[in-house]
Amino acid sequence: MPLSSYLSIALIAILFSYASFAIDTNTHEDNFLQCLSSYSHNSTSISKVVYTKTNSSYSPVLKYTTQNLRFASKTTPKPLVIITPLEPSHIQTAIICSQNHGLQIRTRSGGHDFEGLSYVSEVPFVVIDLVNFKEIDVDVESRTAWVQSGATLGELYYTISQKSRNLGFPAGACPTIGVGGHFSGGGYGTLLRKYGLAADNVIDAHIIDVKGRFLDREAMGEDYFWAIRGGGGASFGVIISWKVKLVQVPSTVTVFTVPRALEQNATKLVHKWQYVASKIDENIAINIVFQRINSSKKGETTILAIFQSLFLGGVDKLIPLMEQKFPELGVVRENCIEMSWIESVLYLFQFPKGALPEVLLNRTLAANSPRFIYKAKSDFVKTPIAENGLEGIWSLFHEDGAKGAMMIWFPYGGFMDTISESEIPFPHRKGNLYHIHYQVDWQQEGDEVEKLHINWIRKLYGYMEPFVSQSPRTGYINYRDLDIGVNNIDGYTSYKQASIWGVKYFKNNFKRLANVKTKVDPLNFFRNEQSIPSLVSKGHK
Ligand SMILES: Cc1cc2nc3c(=O)[nH]c(=O)nc-3n(C[C@H](O)[C@H](O)[C@H](O)COP(=O)(O)OP(=O)(O)OC[C@H]3O[C@@H](n4cnc5c(N)ncnc54)[C@H](O)[C@@H]3O)c2cc1C
Repeated sequence: MPLSSYLSIALIAILFSYASFAIDTNTHEDNFLQCLSSYSHNSTSISKVVYTKTNSSYSPVLKYTTQNLRFASKTTPKPLVIITPLEPSHIQTAIICSQNHGLQIRTRSGGHDFEGLSYVSEVPFVVIDLVNFKEIDVDVESRTAWVQSGATLGELYYTISQKSRNLGFPAGACPTIGVGGHFSGGGYGTLLRKYGLAADNVIDAHIIDVKGRFLDREAMGEDYFWAIRGGGGASFGVIISWKVKLVQVPSTVTVFTVPRALEQNATKLVHKWQYVASKIDENIAINIVFQRINSSKKGETTILAIFQSLFLGGVDKLIPLMEQKFPELGVVRENCIEMSWIESVLYLFQFPKGALPEVLLNRTLAANSPRFIYKAKSDFVKTPIAENGLEGIWSLFHEDGAKGAMMIWFPYGGFMDTISESEIPFPHRKGNLYHIHYQVDWQQEGDEVEKLHINWIRKLYGYMEPFVSQSPRTGYINYRDLDIGVNNIDGYTSYKQASIWGVKYFKNNFKRLANVKTKVDPLNFFRNEQSIPSLVSKGHK
């Protein structure tokens, strides 16, 4: 053997002992690790960000953004290797080596996937965790920003606010959500009715594709670029960063929170809200959070409907608007607070009064606050639900399984009605009055408790069937729900089978997504339980 070969073997050994690679790992893992070293031009730095189960940082790194503790138990399948890349070449190497050695990839940005698909898989897998890809570059003059996928929404909002009081971005409320999953699935929040989804405001992106190529919008082509803005990034590659249009927000916005229990006429108010919230001025979003609370009658529970709102303007304009369109809610000046847009982000996420915008940078916020075990589902409503239909929901909320349950009803309409269903893969536009996010949280581990709550949320979902969108009953991919259908674990799933869940998320856009998938990843390397299928047949594979 030539000397140079001995030297390179020695080098590999030194480099990878740094990351405490275990000698007794299985063949997949060993081969994968060797591959990483042989493909890496700069293998010193990749070795620093490769974690195997024998590395003491493996568990902390895995847990850091594991948001749903349903997927943090001893029996949850764990990745063979976690990589927290520092540069695109690390991602390129991981993609090539995973393919060469029969491993699947799960890409994680903020780890909020409701079914844990960014860090759990039934087959041997590697997690690419983008925690180090968090740069944000805001350009006030062109009103654009480049944001890396591993940045959080809180970091994005904060960085924008440091540059201008009059710029914002339309995305979700929870500050620890990752940009990567959120933008690639759609992403909505209180600016939805005025400016649409996060994905509607993406104008360029950088992705590493199945061949390990680094592509921007031009190199991707318009079909590929279309697919990653709402079609779920995990089917198409690893998206590194996004260029977004920033949106105009006034110097002063107004917020209010008005809670009404059933005893305070909540049913009638919710009923009326359905006729108002999607039709009212697009500068206002009034959503409702439903919770079960103890009633004033001892031992009994009631339902609290919390009407929460962001208005893009001052209180002087808001009050007449509310008096004209929704007088029954009785919003008065005393309910309203004027503030800057960034302060409204803190207010609406219920940070304590006086919290500084810097709390949005706190990534361990979620890690330190009690995390829960949870299950979520989603629906879109096109026709108002009658009062007796609402009463049926309330009665389900009194059941045992509903302890820790909540719903958020979020109004659509406004600018959303003007965007075509096929503009991006997210098709839930005109005709949708509001979106429902159902969720039940619990803390105690165990099969019985889990069964109680999951059965309950399925029962509620069953009850809602006649009241929500039909043929198909639609849902939102970012509120991932594996109950609505899954792919086969072995890798091949027919278009027909995948359509069971696919048309619910994407309606007619599902076919175009499958066509893009077939073009960019025909052998279906990037796959999970709800990834877009390739149209290449099993026989061909
Ligand atoms: C507490 C909470 C509040 C929420 N609030 C809202 C809300 O207000 N509005 C809303 O629209 N949604 C909301 N969501 C849903 C949220 O938008 C989705 O869960 C979103 O996918 C999370 O993105 P993430 O990067 O944090 O998740 P991850 O778990 O990291 O990723 C989610 C999915 O995207 C894939 N993915 C992640 N990054 C990349 C990448 N860079 N390239 C390719 N694929 C990638 C993952 O593999 C996975 O399939 C909420 C979720 C939670 C748990």
